[in-house]
Amino acid sequence: MITFLSGGTGTPKLIRGMRHHLADHEIAVVVNTAEDLWISGNFLSPDIDTLIYLFSGTLDTDSWWGLKGDTFSTHQELERMGGDEFITIGDRDRAIHIMRGELLRKGMTLTATTAHLCTSLGVGARILPMADTPVETIIRTGGREIHFQEYWVSHRGALPIEEVIRKWDDPPFATPDVLSAIRSAEAVIIGPSNPITSILPILECRGVREALRKVPVVAVSPFIGDAPVSGPAASLMRARGYQPNSAATRELYHEFLDHFIQDSRDPVEVTGAIRMDTLMSSPGVDASLASAILSLIRGV
Ligand code: GDP
Repeated sequence: MITFLSGGTGTPKLIRGMRHHLADHEIAVVVNTAEDLWISGNFLSPDIDTLIYLFSGTLDTDSWWGLKGDTFSTHQELERMGGDEFITIGDRDRAIHIMRGELLRKGMTLTATTAHLCTSLGVGARILPMADTPVETIIRTGGREIHFQEYWVSHRGALPIEEVIRKWDDPPFATPDVLSAIRSAEAVIIGPSNPITSILPILECRGVREALRKVPVVAVSPFIGDAPVSGPAASLMRARGYQPNSAATRELYHEFLDHFIQDSRDPVEVTGAIRMDTLMSSPGVDASLASAILSLIRGV
């Protein structure tokens, strides 16, 4: 089994490529939940949703969130009634949030809720929330604190970041399923996800770093030069005091890393890094990259 650590865009692209080489039941994905939030009474877990839709063949792979061909009637009605709908949620997408919210209110864990949703939607891979207790990524800007989703979705990331804060009532523990998926993996792949908002929240869960030290770990950089391929990773890296590049990303993972992959076009030199085409915007690059990573892991 290959286990991924994932956010909701860069790593899912690589997983799409890996599905050309592995059966879904050979894949486990430990997923960031620090962007989750209750909205209009329902529970949105954006990165988990992207993975569920990817594996059930319904993901909108233009935006890498939501379902292809979804409609937005409920969103429009809620807005008409003055609802606080700062995220545009599709009608069928909302159904999963309603179901998840109901199951959580009944006392199910997020892990059990996700397993239930995966079974009902025919997902063969193991999709594992990093923790069962809530964690939030909060942005401090202009002296006030806002949820990362508000920073990114409502403000399009156009606010100066004073601090990136991780909040929780109880320090998060990796779930037993997460630790077992890491410990029993042939290798763990940290895909090209945002280090600050997608990967560090997973690494901050108790038990994850220790487990990673005992298995082969490969990471793929989300940066080319001093910019990410997409999204707000550069501002977030700077806000935490890191350069927004592959060298700093490598440094964040160095304690458990066996191989670091950066794009062949990346002008930043990272000692020991392996160069590959990681830009998964053209057809086939995701599958070729996945194949090259599998060969690296298997030493062929
Ligand atoms: P989020 O949850 O939507 O923020 O998604 P992730 O954290 O999983 O992914 C965001 C990161 O993916 C960004 O930092 C991008 O630079 C990176 N990314 C997106 N597409 C690609 C790609 O094709 N190649 C590489 N190397 N990185 C990518």
